[in-house]
Amino acid sequence: MINVENIRQQFPILFQEVNDEPLVYLDNAATTQKPQAVLDKLAYYYEHDNANVHRGVHTLAERATKEYEAAREKVRRLIGANETAEILFTRGTTTSLNWVAKSYGDLAVGAGDEIVISYMEHHSNIIPWQQLAQRKGAVLKYIDITADGYLDLENAKKQITDKTKIVSIAHVSNVLGVINPISELTVLAHQHGAIMVVDGAQAVPHMPVNVQELDADFYAFSGHKMCGPTGIGVLYGKRALLEKMEPVEFGGEMIDFVNLQDSTWKELPWKFEAGTPNIAGAIALGAAVDYLTDIGLENIHQHEADLVAYVLPKLQAIEGLTVYGPQKIEDHTGVIAFNLEGLHPHDVATALDMEGVAVRAGHHCAQPLLKYIDVPATARASFYLYNTKADADRLIEAILATKEFFQHGPI
Ligand code: PLP
Repeated sequence: MINVENIRQQFPILFQEVNDEPLVYLDNAATTQKPQAVLDKLAYYYEHDNANVHRGVHTLAERATKEYEAAREKVRRLIGANETAEILFTRGTTTSLNWVAKSYGDLAVGAGDEIVISYMEHHSNIIPWQQLAQRKGAVLKYIDITADGYLDLENAKKQITDKTKIVSIAHVSNVLGVINPISELTVLAHQHGAIMVVDGAQAVPHMPVNVQELDADFYAFSGHKMCGPTGIGVLYGKRALLEKMEPVEFGGEMIDFVNLQDSTWKELPWKFEAGTPNIAGAIALGAAVDYLTDIGLENIHQHEADLVAYVLPKLQAIEGLTVYGPQKIEDHTGVIAFNLEGLHPHDVATALDMEGVAVRAGHHCAQPLLKYIDVPATARASFYLYNTKADADRLIEAILATKEFFQHGPI
């Protein structure tokens, strides 16, 4: 059990009014708020330790380097990677997936080869593969989704074949809120000699993840969705694969020797981190990892499951409201996309904002998914560790008020 009232006290941004109502922040799938410990770490770094990493021999440079590398170790521990050489700092999930598609993709994919993703992917896990397929004359295939909102494993077995070189799937969907069976997919991919890439943007912040247990070959996630700053993210990759890959970017920090016509690279993980990295971001991400692990990812997961068990039946009971993704409480994470019959989700989100309730509306960077389920857009409420049942009540009240307003006008 987590003490949500204590947790809320750590997030100063939550204590404000929006449109004269206390803020209820339910847009956590887009980005999460930052606890005081993360804000303090950022300020402390710039006030005391700011220097470039891996270069200077002076004290500040040593301190910055030590903290930067300590953050890498914290991330390694969080996701159960074997060694810090397998943890690359990137700008976020998008950059991480682009690196895999460019570097590993260029190495391993040829004309006629297949890349398999699913219809529920975020654009970040679609477009890099489209680009790779176009560069190489490869084929991009999509795994179906069942009518009740799950990844169709039977279809996955058909789509993944001996021609498949890469399978890349979201661990948790940012629209359907469903957890995908990554271990089963990894076994399938490996049986056919393909590698398994996981988009963990909506998983790592919310539940325990162990990349070795999943046997994922690459695993990508973003700092800003897990209480860390924007502009910092992670790509985990198995050493054997990273060793074979070329860096995506070239320049300072990542080189060993530079000659006039050629150069050699540093060892892992630094060979991928060209230029001055987001030092403050990485260090503050380390503080976010400390914060989340102190509370416990299992506890955070349970808290969100309790919130879903509370709010999902209330949403399902509203006449004219459709919840997308699994309808079973135990299969739905805290990402809840919905529509109100006859209302555009942008109008719904604007009306909820008038009540101080922040939700997202649109295609959620998943246009192929929305086309697949045949809805142009949805509203989406997404919960995190600092949300309460009172927040859920405010959401429900605001939806009912919105419905009433559009049906009968102002009271
Ligand atoms: N993948 C999923 C499932 C996401 O939800 C997101 C963000 O919304 C991304 C990828 C992209 O993350 P970022 O914008 O931090 O690179």
